[in-house]
Amino acid sequence: MTLLDMQKLVLGKSVQGKEIAGYSFGDENCFNKTLIVGGIHGVEPQSKEVCEMYVSDIEDKPFPKDCYLLLIPCINPDGIEANTRGNANGVDLNRNFPSSGWQSTPLAGNNAYYPGIKPASEPETQIIVSLLKNYNFKKIFAIHTNHTIQFPNPPMVNYDGEQSRELAEKLSVATGLMAHHDIGYPTPGSLGVWVGHELKKISVTVELDDTKTSKELYKKHGLMFEVGVIG
Ligand SMILES: [Zn+2]
Repeated sequence: MTLLDMQKLVLGKSVQGKEIAGYSFGDENCFNKTLIVGGIHGVEPQSKEVCEMYVSDIEDKPFPKDCYLLLIPCINPDGIEANTRGNANGVDLNRNFPSSGWQSTPLAGNNAYYPGIKPASEPETQIIVSLLKNYNFKKIFAIHTNHTIQFPNPPMVNYDGEQSRELAEKLSVATGLMAHHDIGYPTPGSLGVWVGHELKKISVTVELDDTKTSKELYKKHGLMFEVGVIG
């Protein structure tokens, strides 16, 4: 085994103590470093499953040269197990990131979007915050499905910040989903807003069609992973 082979890392633990795993591919010292995160919302299991399908697809294959990927298929294992949007504290992790616009009250008073007691209060959020602070990722790519709680949005490649547009357009071609900078409702404290507008890194959020199975989604859009990694 060389250093460039896949490595499984334990990055931390959820509120209920479940291990949160990351899969590392390629050369950690290269410039083109990508972080991909799935399973942020527990009611969107396909976002975790398509990541796992990609891992088993590429684990024995050569990884693209001069690229590095850290893939976290499931950052919210407690939510996935309980089939809840939030983590075991009922916090919507995608409203818990430390963006300057973080708000303590959930959007439209809906507790499904509960942002937590303070920014980055949750252990799952802290894993991503610490990875972004300590490793120089060039781009971050979050995978969701367009599961509707209160605000419906079509499947799309959503991007934050003009620096993210080029990658979003490539992903749009790869997936057949439209690229758009506006998801249609405010998302204070989301990973995309924090990374794209404040850290000024390339930040893309793919919203897959929630009505499809993970197998169908991977078959139709699986190319997005390689396109996202190569950039
Ligand atoms: Zn989501």
